[in-house]
Amino acid sequence: MEVAVIGAGAAGLMAAYAAAKNGNKVTIFEKNEKSGKKIYITGKGRCNVTHDCAPDEFLQNVVNNHKFLTGAIYNFTPEDTVDFFESEGLRLKTERGARIFPASDKASDVTKCLEKACKKYNVIFKFNEKVLRINTLNSTMSGIITEKGEFCFNKVIVCTGGLSYPSTGSDGDGYIFAKSAGHNIVSPMPGLCGLDLRGDFYKALQGLTLKNVKLSVFFEEKKLREFFGEVLFTHFGISGPSVLSASSLINRLDLAKVRLSVDLKPALGDEQLNARLLRDFESNKNKSIFNCLKELLPVSMISEVLARSGIAEEKKVNTVTRNERQRLLTTVKNFDMLVLALRGFNEAIITSGGVDVKQINPKTMESKLVNGLYFCGEVLDVDAFTGGFNLQIAFSTGYAAGISIKD
Ligand SMILES: Cc1cc2nc3c(=O)[nH]c(=O)nc-3n(C[C@H](O)[C@H](O)[C@H](O)COP(=O)(O)OP(=O)(O)OC[C@H]3O[C@@H](n4cnc5c(N)ncnc54)[C@H](O)[C@@H]3O)c2cc1C
Repeated sequence: MEVAVIGAGAAGLMAAYAAAKNGNKVTIFEKNEKSGKKIYITGKGRCNVTHDCAPDEFLQNVVNNHKFLTGAIYNFTPEDTVDFFESEGLRLKTERGARIFPASDKASDVTKCLEKACKKYNVIFKFNEKVLRINTLNSTMSGIITEKGEFCFNKVIVCTGGLSYPSTGSDGDGYIFAKSAGHNIVSPMPGLCGLDLRGDFYKALQGLTLKNVKLSVFFEEKKLREFFGEVLFTHFGISGPSVLSASSLINRLDLAKVRLSVDLKPALGDEQLNARLLRDFESNKNKSIFNCLKELLPVSMISEVLARSGIAEEKKVNTVTRNERQRLLTTVKNFDMLVLALRGFNEAIITSGGVDVKQINPKTMESKLVNGLYFCGEVLDVDAFTGGFNLQIAFSTGYAAGISIKD
């Protein structure tokens, strides 16, 4: 069978490899001059290639459409990804948080390895060749039109990615192909991105990283989830690992109804924090409350915490009332922030939304509307938290499509 793969990213390379290994003649069309431009920047250039976990745990880290992904992840698991790379000669290592990287710390080695595996099965690479259109006839794939000509293909695997970091080549062409074949597109939104905040208090905190804090995400005052880790204040609002995860949870919601709340001292319960405040007050009786709090909080946060608690910075510790202490405690445990907007696709690690999975066969990634048309990777409406999950989704869906195509 002649197969066209559109896009030589993680999903496209894996789909091409699996289809070629299965005995098909595979041509991969890539508009860039080389494969894997996005892979190159993953994991800060080190590529967090997958996550060391069982499929069940994996699926808990999928934000949208984990049920759709269940079959693909069980059929090509994170362990299979590790076996694939190691058997193709790329040594991997597992780091803190079960994140798996190439032992060389070079993302480019991941692309080289995928390309080598494709070439072993004679995959033809067509670089600098943008696909402009897909052609269908009687609800069956008939071919593609590229910048260089028109080609007949009865099997076409679309692996064009989403909209994030468009400079890497993924700029939404896959949605156009999908729409032309009658598919619904779930509105693409930036995911795993920083958040613009309301107000301007964050400007005074710019550059501050809060470590080991708890970030709770509320929608209409219902807690959706909490994340432990770092929150980083920036010139626009907040970022950092917990915030990226939170952004993926809220990107389809009405942001005006979202509240984020940081517990600045998650290791201390209310009573323990109260006791700690009383101890600090006792040993700093004659100091200002601002100076007294320097041991408890980062200095740049104290003014904002005191303002929110309704306590003057210069107030002497021995005049702080019980009520004021209670308000201070409440602010430290619930430092609330309101979200103005998501940062844009230029900064988003992932696109949430895309080709509606209701119209895709979850076993094969084939369109339920057009025979011989497949969608894999980020172009689909699937996304996950950070930790190697998104590349694994690209590998598992690419593999599912490739391996399903046989004469
Ligand atoms: C900064 C950053 C860091 C990341 N780090 C990690 C990480 O460490 N671990 C992890 O799991 N995930 C990470 N991700 C997410 C991960 O990179 C993506 O989810 C994954 O690469 C998606 O793979 P894909 O093959 O679906 O799409 P892409 O990698 O976007 O590939 C799509 C390809 O299709 C090509 N293309 C598009 N349109 C056409 C067309 N019309 N004709 C021909 N070719 C076309 C593009 O040029 C591109 O090469 C990161 C993302 C970013 C932005």
